Amino acid sequence: MNSVEMVKENCKTASLSETNIFTHDDFDLLEEIKAAIKENEKVGCTGCRYCMPCSKGVDIPGTFRSYNEMYTESKHQGRFQYAQTVGLTKEPAFASQCIECGKCEQHCPQGIPIRQKLKEADKALRPLPYKIGINIVRKFMFRKTR
Ligand code: SF4
Ligand code: SF4
Repeated sequence: MNSVEMVKENCKTASLSETNIFTHDDFDLLEEIKAAIKENEKVGCTGCRYCMPCSKGVDIPGTFRSYNEMYTESKHQGRFQYAQTVGLTKEPAFASQCIECGKCEQHCPQGIPIRQKLKEADKALRPLPYKIGINIVRKFMFRKTR
């Protein structure tokens, strides 16, 4: 859930429900959906943020969320999200800022090889035209005004 509205909506839905209404078929369907999503995900990141903060400012979960979105939604959507949430913040948080100190990996409960996956993710998420585009937009957004 990404907003208070989503939490409220989910609470409302849950309050209309009763316990034990799911059948075995419902659970099977849920497992199928979970498996289909997992199959397309590139990194098994849960977004717990135990790996944060990174001393170099890399947004590790944000990068992995965008990377997964490329394969669970669409390439454009994942790249757009990366540009917006990682590339166009005042201080950029690109995966390429990683100096491979390895500290984050010591805290990841999922045992993700974060350094390696960050490299893969940045390459996929920021092909040359996107790099150029993000740089141009950054110049306009953060230009100094007198
Ligand atoms: S390995 Fe990279 S991402 Fe992880 S803490 Fe070090 S600099 Fe940050
Ligand atoms: S600790 Fe691991 S699972 Fe949690 S946000 Fe960081 S990379 Fe993802």
